[in-house]
Amino acid sequence: AKSMGKGRVVFFEKSMQTHTPGTLALETDLRRALERGEFHMFYQPIVSLETGEIAAFESLLRWDHGRHGMIPPDRFISMAEDMGTIVEVGQWALEQACTQLSAWHQMGFDQLSVSVNVSAQQFYHQDLNGVIRGVLARTGLPPELLKLELTESILMENVAANVAMLQSLRDIGVQIMIDDFGTGYSSLSYLHRFPLNSLKIDRSFVKDIPENQENAAITAAILAMADQLGLSVVAEGIENEAQLLYLWDKHCHLVQGYLFNQPLTRDQATAALYKRETV
Ligand code: C2E
Ligand code: CA
Ligand code: CA
Ligand code: CA
Repeated sequence: AKSMGKGRVVFFEKSMQTHTPGTLALETDLRRALERGEFHMFYQPIVSLETGEIAAFESLLRWDHGRHGMIPPDRFISMAEDMGTIVEVGQWALEQACTQLSAWHQMGFDQLSVSVNVSAQQFYHQDLNGVIRGVLARTGLPPELLKLELTESILMENVAANVAMLQSLRDIGVQIMIDDFGTGYSSLSYLHRFPLNSLKIDRSFVKDIPENQENAAITAAILAMADQLGLSVVAEGIENEAQLLYLWDKHCHLVQGYLFNQPLTRDQATAALYKRETV
């Protein structure tokens, strides 16, 4: 019991150290950020190499803190997860992305889809199915134009329950994509059990292809496997033409990255849609 007590003290001290004053202050601000309208949705194009057009946008959250400027999602998403606020923030993000896609749809971009990142808390602790049905009903968006991006680690937590959960989402008509594919611990033998539509190859593999032969081999293997399983593939983090040529050669037709566009504001995204169409 003594050693356990000692262990606890050490653990407590360690966790205290991570709470720098900055983090605590940010947590307080994060609670109010939604009602203050400090979140903004950005949209990064996913380009079809077959048509040269924007096939979809990934919606990416930004927090404009004012005093501290733009705070990147890598800083505040995990914070919002820990605080539980991610559920509200995530619902806002879904509503925002679907409202915007519906507007683009009405402008005539009727093939365009949008993908929304779904956090673990949202997947496990929210009535995600009900939330999505509500958002689709309010925005009038055809369900098949909404793609949910889920990481492998979320899915592998409890395979049987998650298969049922994903199926209930597919029954609504929305699409399911595994994000950051290859970085988690998903067993390939489980992959076919999930009712998926697509995979997104993680940037860490794409980063240094084709020079890095291991990553090039992994990328090619994911593309070949996805083809066999009837899944579409998006490669993220394309920054140069060498990467693009390699992916094209391996028949990857959906790409996303700084080579094409950074995440854009709503108005920049609309302008990009019109520009692509007339080119
Ligand atoms: P992610 O889902 O893997 O998103 C891709 C990240 O890569 C984005 O960072 C994007 O801006 C960045 N990126 C895109 N192209 C390139 C490129 O060519 N090179 C490099 N170096 N980076 C590129 P961002 O916007 O900072 O988002 C970081 C993470 O925050 C996301 O990773 C996602 O996990 C999370 N996130 C963002 N928005 C949301 C959201 O609405 N809900 C949830 N739950 N998570 C979100
Ligand atoms: Ca994503
Ligand atoms: Ca990703
Ligand atoms: Ca990532």
